[in-house]
Amino acid sequence: MTQFTAAFPQATIEGYPRVGANRELKKALESYWHGRIDAESFASATHALRVDTYARLRDLGLDEDYAIPADVAYYDQVLETALTVGAVGGDAAEVSLDEEFALARGNKDRAPLEMTKWFDTNYHYIVPEIADDQAFVARPQRVIKLVEEAKAAGHKVRPYLVGPVTVLALSKQAEGATGAPLDRLDDLVASYVTVLEALADAGVEWIQLAEPATVADLTVANDAAIAEALTKAYTTILGAEKRPQVYLTTPYGSARKGLDAIAALKPEALQVDLSVGTLALDEGYADRVRETVPAETHLVAGIIDGRNVWAADLRKLRKLYEGFAEREGGVSVSTSVSLQHVPHTVEAETKLPVDVANWFSFANEKVTEVIALAGGESENAQAFSRADRAVRTRTESKRTHNDAVQSRVAALPEGEVKREPAFAERNAAQEALGLPQLPTTTIGSFPQTQEIRQARASHRNGGLTDEQYNEALKAEVKSVIELQENLGLDVLVHGEPERNDMVQYFAELLDGFVVTENGWVQSYGSRCTRPPIVVGDVSRPEPMTVEWAKYAQSLSDKHVKGMLTGPVTILAWSFIRDDVHQSVSADQIGVALADEVRDLEEAGIDIIQIDEPALRELLPLREEDRKAYLDWAVRAFRLVSLDAKPETQIHTHLCYSEFGQIIDAVAGLDADVTSIEAARSRMELLEDIDEKFHSEIGPGIYDIHSPRVPSVEEMEELIRAALKNVPAERLWINPDCGLKTRGYAETEESLRNMVEARNRVVAEL
Ligand code: GLN
Ligand code: ZN
Repeated sequence: MTQFTAAFPQATIEGYPRVGANRELKKALESYWHGRIDAESFASATHALRVDTYARLRDLGLDEDYAIPADVAYYDQVLETALTVGAVGGDAAEVSLDEEFALARGNKDRAPLEMTKWFDTNYHYIVPEIADDQAFVARPQRVIKLVEEAKAAGHKVRPYLVGPVTVLALSKQAEGATGAPLDRLDDLVASYVTVLEALADAGVEWIQLAEPATVADLTVANDAAIAEALTKAYTTILGAEKRPQVYLTTPYGSARKGLDAIAALKPEALQVDLSVGTLALDEGYADRVRETVPAETHLVAGIIDGRNVWAADLRKLRKLYEGFAEREGGVSVSTSVSLQHVPHTVEAETKLPVDVANWFSFANEKVTEVIALAGGESENAQAFSRADRAVRTRTESKRTHNDAVQSRVAALPEGEVKREPAFAERNAAQEALGLPQLPTTTIGSFPQTQEIRQARASHRNGGLTDEQYNEALKAEVKSVIELQENLGLDVLVHGEPERNDMVQYFAELLDGFVVTENGWVQSYGSRCTRPPIVVGDVSRPEPMTVEWAKYAQSLSDKHVKGMLTGPVTILAWSFIRDDVHQSVSADQIGVALADEVRDLEEAGIDIIQIDEPALRELLPLREEDRKAYLDWAVRAFRLVSLDAKPETQIHTHLCYSEFGQIIDAVAGLDADVTSIEAARSRMELLEDIDEKFHSEIGPGIYDIHSPRVPSVEEMEELIRAALKNVPAERLWINPDCGLKTRGYAETEESLRNMVEARNRVVAEL
């Protein structure tokens, strides 16, 4: 066996944002996809970004060998690993850039691979599809190239791969495959061994293998099965003839059985997530780590929270670190997860109030924290005093504490709250709405036109005055209403042109949030979002949607829906507080939105939709934590509609069809009408839904995720399929999500077909 002895660095990070401080990667990707630059320019742009990133990290203090992870990927980290170990890409020895992008985005010859959420974050990864005869061709060149280019720039970086167990746990069976992906573990591991050998030949002394599958209860395998797979995989990997030292990581939560399994294997280094959030869910974790990880393994304490934006309380965290400092095998400091989930740097923010700016640490600031934590106060006095100041000013600030909000929420009943009267009585009262059989509606947004985008940009740059911008938006609302009237839809929407984003819109209008100028975080591929930050108690200084709703309603005799984003989704797509439990913010947003509901009612709006597309996203990774989450999430939603009049019809919208784990919670929202995605699953899910639901249901009959226009016949068929499980009195007809990403031409045609399909079915009822 090769004997690499390079020590593990004292301070490191699990990963760093890949988009670039000025979204260089996004620009390069989109320019390449649109043919504005060629492969060579793409290569040089991304090379410059990587080398700049390494240089920046070194300047920030990650100057030990192997402290900088080379967690490089053009589109996605799982895709990159899958390409390197041949879990995708057929049996070709090399996969070109265009083939890589075709896997991720599809092209005229192939559909893209599926994409889904990476653990409980807002990052999405590409799902490999594993065939029975998958070749698993090792393509070590992909990593060696990175190592060499870094070396040429003067850095010894640490290659990064997602580990084999996690890759397979997150993959799906290819069509026609008979075995589960995990059945192919041995073959896949053989490919990792080949890659590792090539890396050793290239002089690489440390490799990072991420195994977050150890921290989640995945549907594909339970804790014990994952532990078994880890044992199998790493017995082979660690026993290989020639390889770099292995740095195994378990980010995103507490590893349970997996920790015992890994500890027994004695990898050269092991990272555990010891962030405040993880320790809150599993209090005994730090002790268990101390007892379980053997002296042969160098421990890497992932203490700095990599997924939230708060400046660390260094003094407190240093105590946690010192609890490990004496251990025999040594200890280093890292982040709990890759920093890819936070923006680059607070320094790019020029508009944050000064006191608030001090409270945040984005990626660069977190690097400084890691170094300070590892080195201690005497060497890092400045970092410690910044942290002290942040902790102190945050506790004392009026921005974080609002007595009126706190006493209002404290006065709410505890536990379950329930809108009165119950559904049946409300449903009867809502007959006064005078809706036809199988009423048609849409989910809220209409296509965002070029004109609206331009108007928004020009308003932001001062080109349009507030008044001019408002006029442009009003014209858009008017045309959306006219269009819906012409199409013969029953319940109308205003189209949401005033909303840049369904969460940011509310965050900007609520007190207790701040928004950033440059706080971009990669969501998938070249897509980035700028999550708002909940800094303190949340309240609503004034109505947020009422003027728009009133205006839209004034244009039509039909009902126009009021449109709100629910508390869970607002939190799911924001950075949350770390000084109170999430449920506290959820209750506060719940009552703020309840005030909005009341104001909408007073303005004459009698149908109000509260969107909760993120309800499932926030579901904890561990089964045992899920009930508590669903309890507070459902409660917060119910607070919004708690005092709505019985004759006000409350709708909710959820964006997906896999309800398995949360169906009771969705029923528990107690909305009067629930719209869900069902077009792609061809209404199959209605079989289990109907027994649990009493509400009316709009199982989207038109898949808005593609520009294809569904025919009348196709939608008729879906309506008939739905009627097999849902009685006509309870069925709504609608697309399966908002139309924001579609164009007008296809939208108009699709909606016209949808109304016609409804009419044909109704004629036969
Ligand atoms: N009302 C929103 C819209 O139509 C809902 C979007 C969503 O579910 N993600 O755009
Ligand atoms: Zn949706």
